[in-house]
Formats: sequence, structure tokens, C-alpha cells
Amino acid sequence: MNLILMGLPGAGKGTQAEQIVAEYNIPHISTGDMFRAAIKEGTELGLQAKSFMDKGELVPDEVTIGIVRERLAKDDCSKGFLLDGFPRTVAQADALEGIMKDLGKKIDYVLNINVDSSLLLKRLTGRRICKSCGATYHLIFNPPQVEGVCDKCGGELYQRSDDNEETVANRLEVNIKQTQPLLDFYGELGYVRNIDGEQEISKVFADINALIGELA
Ligand SMILES: [Zn+2]
Repeated sequence: MNLILMGLPGAGKGTQAEQIVAEYNIPHISTGDMFRAAIKEGTELGLQAKSFMDKGELVPDEVTIGIVRERLAKDDCSKGFLLDGFPRTVAQADALEGIMKDLGKKIDYVLNINVDSSLLLKRLTGRRICKSCGATYHLIFNPPQVEGVCDKCGGELYQRSDDNEETVANRLEVNIKQTQPLLDFYGELGYVRNIDGEQEISKVFADINALIGELA
């Protein structure tokens, strides 16, 4: 099972990724982890990536794609893998199709966890932090007993500036613009499976399980 996981910030991608790799014993491959591993192993491409990262520059596509190629060719991917955070662009997706062909594999599903933007906004702006002790709360997932007051120390709760509605809305919009072309690309290939991410976490996972079951 060769899977790509997609979803906007706040859609619950991280939680689902953890459950998928635990259930199916396949590697969870994120771009950051891949870079770190290649740098640690001191591969040619890893060193190239490091030189860009040290300068604070974006790692160019040819380096990133080379690292992905090396990673997907490793033994632990023989039963499948879960790609997360790659590809980010249609050019990268196109290159990935080439890599898969070279490896004699294909992507089975692009699992897209769908959550309406207005709900994402609520999830992503809900964090509150205690001014006194730093305890964190969430208005939906972990609300304090009394609004605006820390359960632990009675301190005042505040919202970090990067959690405010305008900042988060902008971040979401940028993400939607980036991911739509990818979903179109994979949609045409017939890979996309939309998962309702507004359900309980366990139901989201059950839906993913059912889809993966069809591959067996
Ligand atoms: Zn507190």
C-alpha cells in the first residue's frame, strides 16, 4: 500500500498518520524526516540539502526529489509507505510518478482528509495559554472549566498572536491555493479518496481502514 496523506492544517493529518503507520507497519515518510536522515547518513544528496538549509534557502526540487527516490527505494518501503508533506507541487508529483515507475510501483491512494475551512478556523484559533503557568487549553478539545481562567493556577488565559483569526485564515488560504493543483493532478489519475475529517477521530480512521482494506 503506497499512500500519500493530504489535508489542510487542523484536519487531523498527524493523528491519522500515526494510526495508519502503527496499524499497517509501514514507514511514515515526511520531508523533514527524510532530510534529517539523509544528512545524518552523510549521503551526497543529504550534504547538498544541508548546504541549502544552512544558508536558510529552500532545498531545490532536484535535490528533494533525489532524496525521495533514495528513501522510497529502501527495503522498509517494500510493503508500502505513507508519504506526508511530499509532494507539495505538481512538478514534484510528476517527478514522483517517474520514481514510482522506475521502482515498478504505483501510488494506490491519495488520502485527502476533508474538513470545512470554517471548522478548521475554529480548531486552529482555539488554543489558549495561561499567562502565569503556561498551561495550554483548547476551546473545543480541552476547554478550561471557567472561560478565560486557568484550571491549574487561576491565571488569565490568552491567545497567541499567530493563533489569531486573520493570521490563521491567511495560512489556510495559502495552503488551499497550494494543494488544489495537486488534488486536481491526482484526481485526474484517479488516486484521490476524500475522507470526511469532521467526524470523530476513530471514525475518520475507520473510513481510512475500509479504503486500505480494499487494496488487500
Ligand atoms: Zn495557569
